[in-house]
Amino acid sequence: MTTETATIEQLEAAIKAHEKREEDLIAKYGPGTKYNRTIKKGSLDWDAEAKKFHVTIECEDCGTPVKVYTSDLFQKGKCEEHAKEARAARRKGKAKVNDNISLTEAKAQLAALKAKLEG
Ligand SMILES: [Zn+2]
Repeated sequence: MTTETATIEQLEAAIKAHEKREEDLIAKYGPGTKYNRTIKKGSLDWDAEAKKFHVTIECEDCGTPVKVYTSDLFQKGKCEEHAKEARAARRKGKAKVNDNISLTEAKAQLAALKAKLEG
């Protein structure tokens, strides 16, 4: 649909469809849902290059407006900076304890280290 060939009716229908799509997204991802995204009203638009819809949400940590493809709404709720922080925190939390050592050996090494520390 290009501007040259679209009729008033078609354009009005397209605008209505945008509004409806946005309402549906807010119902699915907005406040009170498990995603709890703050979707800015009237921000839904079509990205002709990416061929995807996007909306503007507020970062759940700092409130910065963030452009998000609607297909990413389920997994993206933060600005770049806070998404990076959250990823780093997740990695840290998952840091694996190496238990691939014999218990006797671990206890012996621990006792030796402690003895060293205590001088
Ligand atoms: Zn943020």
